[in-house]
Amino acid sequence: MSRSVLVTGGNRGIGRAIAEAFVASGDQVAITYRSGEPPAGVLAVKCDVTDPAAVEAAFAEVEAAHGPVEVLVANAGITADTLVLRMSDDDWSRVIDTNLTGSFRVAKRAAKGMLRLRRGRIVLISSVVGLLGSAGQVNYAASKAGLVGMARSLARELGSRGITTNVVAPGFVETEMTAVLPEEKKAEYKAQIPLQRYATPEEVAATVHWLASEGAAYVTGAVIPVDGGLGMGH
Ligand code: NDP
Repeated sequence: MSRSVLVTGGNRGIGRAIAEAFVASGDQVAITYRSGEPPAGVLAVKCDVTDPAAVEAAFAEVEAAHGPVEVLVANAGITADTLVLRMSDDDWSRVIDTNLTGSFRVAKRAAKGMLRLRRGRIVLISSVVGLLGSAGQVNYAASKAGLVGMARSLARELGSRGITTNVVAPGFVETEMTAVLPEEKKAEYKAQIPLQRYATPEEVAATVHWLASEGAAYVTGAVIPVDGGLGMGH
């Protein structure tokens, strides 16, 4: 059955691979984007997740085209790394507002339609860093840990209506976000990963796609690591 799927930040990186995986399985896929070229075969809607009016407008456009969102993937995210004493309030707020509050905004809006439908899948993209912590990423780790509490609360609130909420926690993935890391840092991180390599965006997308499938109907409130063993299941 073709479902209405919405992926935030679906123009590049992990979000793009997730959108492409749902397109490949014949779903009606919409993405939000702010820049760049969206992938083929999706409805692309301009939306900054830090702007509540833009989120509302994006959902209205997606619902008019595809019907209520049945699968939501909250993927949009940023980093603003620096050591804690150098971290400004703005570095903190921008990351929390995009990664945590942005996910809250889209999950809340999607839940409205899902509650009426009495079915739905919400997947929040967190990070291994949310559970392990990471020097220089106090803001990012807090935002990604916050998603776990949010997902588990949503799972409890929405479960009786057949809506599942889960978290995917990737480790290091080959995208623009990690491309900026210095080579020696990358080598250092790789040495700590049992599988000794970074993930491809497609490997994260496969787990997200599974969480939205019939096979995962009884999985909710879970945190699924896709990290090459880095977090050892947390
Ligand atoms: P990229 O930097 O490649 O892409 C980030 C995406 O988020 C882009 O589509 C970007 O849109 C979008 N985005 C950022 N800010 C906003 C905003 N305010 N409103 C709407 N969209 C926004 O990152 P990745 O693909 O690597 O990361 C995707 C997710 O996976 C993030 O949540 C990230 O934290 C998480 N993650 C990534 C890991 C990695 O190693 N790469 C590891 C673990 C988790 P635009 O192009 O318009 O800027």
